[in-house]
Amino acid sequence: MHSTPAHPTVLADVTLPDGRRADVSLRDGRIAAVHDRGTGRSSERSSDRGSPTGPPTAPDRGRIELAGALLLPALVDGHSHLDKTFLGAPWQPHTGGSSVRERVAAELDARQRLTTPVTERAQALVHRMVGHGTGHTRSHVDIDPHSRLANLHALLEVRERVGDLISLQLVAFPQSGVVSAPGVPDLLDAALRDGADLVGGLDPQGFDGDADAQLDIVFGLAERHGVGVDLHLHDPGEAGAAQLRAIADRTAALGLGGRVTVSHAYCLGEVGGAVFARTAAVLARAGVSILTNGPAGPMPPVLRLREAGVRVFAGSDNIRDAWWPYGTGDMLERATIIGLRSELMSDQELHIAASLVTTEAAAALGLERYGLRPGDRADLVAVAAGGVTEAVAAHPRRLLVLHAGRVVATNGCPVAALPTPEPGMQRAW
Ligand SMILES: [Zn+2]
Repeated sequence: MHSTPAHPTVLADVTLPDGRRADVSLRDGRIAAVHDRGTGRSSERSSDRGSPTGPPTAPDRGRIELAGALLLPALVDGHSHLDKTFLGAPWQPHTGGSSVRERVAAELDARQRLTTPVTERAQALVHRMVGHGTGHTRSHVDIDPHSRLANLHALLEVRERVGDLISLQLVAFPQSGVVSAPGVPDLLDAALRDGADLVGGLDPQGFDGDADAQLDIVFGLAERHGVGVDLHLHDPGEAGAAQLRAIADRTAALGLGGRVTVSHAYCLGEVGGAVFARTAAVLARAGVSILTNGPAGPMPPVLRLREAGVRVFAGSDNIRDAWWPYGTGDMLERATIIGLRSELMSDQELHIAASLVTTEAAAALGLERYGLRPGDRADLVAVAAGGVTEAVAAHPRRLLVLHAGRVVATNGCPVAALPTPEPGMQRAW
């Protein structure tokens, strides 16, 4: 690819996810038309009807030839923690702990030692994500008695700064508990007033010791502020499944179907067939989605949940932070990991793995005009692969990343025209 136009008008000769070769025309930050190179047919935005059909005739300077590279809508990282990452700071040795509570304490220690501000570390991670073709992420942000709203305010600032690269949803996340952490219910309330998009939770029974009390507060805040819910649930076995059913009941009672996610839900990979079937059925009926990052231990069974009608989608979760030294922010790599962990092998199953980081995640996050149809946002990624199956199996290089029609990364690297780092900002590498 020679000098890449900042605002391409045609992405020529791409492979669409269904295998067709096409030229995709872009205008005003959206897809204007998709011209099928095999049939010669074009589909266009309704506002563009009346213009001549046939191959796009945009000036050559806006045309990017992609030689059959796979074009996907921008990848979606359905679960990140931008405020936690150590990227942008020197490498931090992992300390950990044997329980969630011990690891929360270890994290507070580690983060107090960091001198690189949250804004700089979060931006370093955003730039990695953008290079990998991620156009949207839902980041949980710690709200606790120690940091109070500081991390939220930092990420609100980051959201402003990187708004032309990626869209961010922020979840007010009670990392130190809700009931067992003084003042946290009021802090969550303030976080939602200040700009958090959703309210989070953490192991209502296992961490707070009182599932009903935590869920009363979390769903009460969701109702009062008219926001969705995304809870972390690591509690195992039957106890975890019982909380999933309680969450589904509250979701249904408040009419929040489609706006509630339970992240991790390891218990779904542990409980017996009858409990699984009963729990999956109530999750599906209530419209509660399940998020997974393909963890090392028990994990939700992707195919069985989908067969039961439960939406499953994917996120990175921790990326080089106090919880976990691993992670790249590459959502195609995440699809590879989840595919391997879930034994997704056939072509059809590899397409399912891809959907977890694209269409299913976009639907769970409520993203509008997401896709490759005329009128959809031109948030796009071209992958050096001949099709979706190869992209999931090998997570190859990202050739081109667009956000709202603008080129924001080429060959895996954010473009030079990105906002320059703040003075004193260190590269992570
Ligand atoms: Zn998380």
